[in-house]
Amino acid sequence: MRHLLGLPALPWHGRQVSTEASARVPGPLPAVPGSEPLKARGNLFEIATRQIEKAMALIGLDPDVAAILAQPKNEIIVNFPVRLENGKLEIFKGYRVQHNNILGPYKGGIRYHPEANLDEMKALASWMTYKSALHEIPFGGAKGGVKFDPRQCSKLELERITRRFTSALGFNIGPELDIPAPDVNTNSQTMVWMMDTYMNLVGPLERNNVRGVVTGKSVSSGGSHGRAEATGRGVAHCISEWAHDKNFSLDGALVIIQGFGNVGSYTARLLSHKGAIVVGVGDVGGYIMNPEGINPHKLGEHVHETGSVAGYRGATRITRDEFFALDAHVFVPAALELELGVAEAKALRVKVVVEGANGPTYPEAEAILLERGIDVLPDILCNSGGVIVSYYEWLQNKRGDQWELPDVLERLERRMRQTYASVRQYATTHKTDWRTASYAIGLERIEHCYKERGIFP
Ligand code: NAD
Repeated sequence: MRHLLGLPALPWHGRQVSTEASARVPGPLPAVPGSEPLKARGNLFEIATRQIEKAMALIGLDPDVAAILAQPKNEIIVNFPVRLENGKLEIFKGYRVQHNNILGPYKGGIRYHPEANLDEMKALASWMTYKSALHEIPFGGAKGGVKFDPRQCSKLELERITRRFTSALGFNIGPELDIPAPDVNTNSQTMVWMMDTYMNLVGPLERNNVRGVVTGKSVSSGGSHGRAEATGRGVAHCISEWAHDKNFSLDGALVIIQGFGNVGSYTARLLSHKGAIVVGVGDVGGYIMNPEGINPHKLGEHVHETGSVAGYRGATRITRDEFFALDAHVFVPAALELELGVAEAKALRVKVVVEGANGPTYPEAEAILLERGIDVLPDILCNSGGVIVSYYEWLQNKRGDQWELPDVLERLERRMRQTYASVRQYATTHKTDWRTASYAIGLERIEHCYKERGIFP
C-alpha cells in the first residue's frame, strides 16, 4: 500500500516486518536536551472524566446513563510469561479495558509502551465509546496494551509477546465481542499475529469466520485498502474543512507536527499534497525545523532507516521549547497524550490545533488556546479515520468482500465531512467549544439507545 501511494515505510513499522526474525529494532535514542516530554502528567482518566462531565452537564444527561458511563464495563489485566531470546523468562502485564458496548462490539487499539497503565487504558477506552457514537459507527469503546518497551525487543520477541498476550485475552475478544486495532508501537504485523493466534484458539471449523477479530491487518491477510493511512487522511480532511470554513488557503500554509509515526507521517504527506509546508517535526528522539519546508517523504525514509526524525540532514535540530514557539498556521499533535500543557499553549503561534493523538491537550491548556483565539479540533472528531476504515474492514471480513481503494477513500471522506458539519452546527447552536460539542453528540446517541433499550433484567 505504501508503495502504491509512493509513501516510504514507517519507522519501526517497516523494521518489524523484516525477514530477519531476530533483527533488533534500535535501542533507546540518546536523550536530547529540551526534547523531554512533559514531566508531570496528570491522571488521564480523571482528565477524560472532567472533559466528558462538561458535555454531560450541557445536555443534562440522565444520571443513570452518566453512572453507567462513569466506569468501564470490564477491566481485564493479564500477566503472562514469555521466553526471551537470551533464554530468560519474563512476565509481562497486559490490559484490555472494555468501556461500553451499547452501540456495538467493543472496539479500540492495542499499544505497546513502557508506561502503559490501567488509568490510561480507561481514558482511551472511554474516548473510543464517544468517538464511535459521534461518527455513528456501530461499535463501542475499548483499549488495550502491554507494558514494555518494544524498542528493546527483537522481532521474534515481539511476535511471542503478541501471541501470548492474545492467548491470555482468550475469548474476551472476538469479532462480535471486542475488536482490537493498531495503536502506538503496534501495526499491521501485530494485528496479523493476533488474528492468527485467535484463529488457532477457535479451531479449524471456525478459523475463517474470525478474521474480523482485529482490524488494521495487512491487505493480504484480510485488511482493507486505505486502512494504514486512514487516521492521517481523516486528520487532513478535518484541516481542509477548517480551512474552507475560515477561507484560508492550505497552499503555502505552515504546519508543525509532533510525532512522525503512523498518524503524523501520513498527515504530513497528505497535507504536503495540498500545498502545505511542514516547517517543524518532533518525535521521541528530538525536534527539527526548516522554514523552507521539510520533505515528508524524504523524512519518512530517514525515520525508516534511523528510527527518529533526529539527525535528518534537510533540517536544523531545535529544542522542544523552540518547536512549540515556531511560526506556523497548523499544529498537529500526533505523538502521545498530555503533551500540550499550559506552557505549550502559551508558546504556540498557530491558528489551529488539530488533535491527531488521543488526549494530547490538558483542559487548562485548551482554555488558554481558546482564549488566545486558537481553534482546537478535538481528537474524537479528527483522529477517527482509523476506526471508520476499521469498521469498513470489519464489514468486508463479515461479507468475505474486498472493496477497492477509491470506494474506501470516498466513504471515509464523506463520513468525516458529515461529522465535521454536525459538530460545527452543534457548537454554533449551543455556543460551546468543539470538544464539548463532539462529546455531546455522542452522548445524546448513547442516551437515546439506553432509554429505548432499558437495563437488563
Ligand atoms: P506510532 O507508534 O506510529 O507513532 C508515535 C510517534 O510519537 C512516533 O513518532 C514517536 O517517536 C512519537 N513519540 C513518542 N513519544 C514521544 C514523546 N515523548 N515526545 C515526542 N514524540 C513522541 O503511533 P500512532 O499510531 O501514530 O499513534 C499516535 C497517536 O495517535 C496516539 O495518541 C494514538 O493513540 C493516536 N491514534 C492512532 C490511530 C492509528 O490508527 N494508529 C488512530 C487514532 C488515534
